[in-house]
Amino acid sequence: MDSQADLNNSRQRGTKSQQYCDEAKRLLGLFGEAVQDVLILHEQQFHAVVEGDITANRFDLLIHEANRHKQNAKYKYMMHLQEHACSSLHDEIDDD
Ligand SMILES: [Zn+2]
Repeated sequence: MDSQADLNNSRQRGTKSQQYCDEAKRLLGLFGEAVQDVLILHEQQFHAVVEGDITANRFDLLIHEANRHKQNAKYKYMMHLQEHACSSLHDEIDDD
């Protein structure tokens, strides 16, 4: 349904030093949001526990779902870097 907007997205005109493509940036952004979702839920659960909320365990299911979502987002991002090889800079920095 939103695919038309994607088709119209033809702004990339072969930038010379393109480290991360737009798709990688988008996926990294989604991964970041997913990480934040998990953090927010942990914080909410912490407050619920501190306030003596006896239903604080209800967050565990939400956290579990958020973690699954996060893993999914991370996987998509990693897969893109692998398949698209737009992570060459990243590999050079990682000198273990
Ligand atoms: Zn890419």
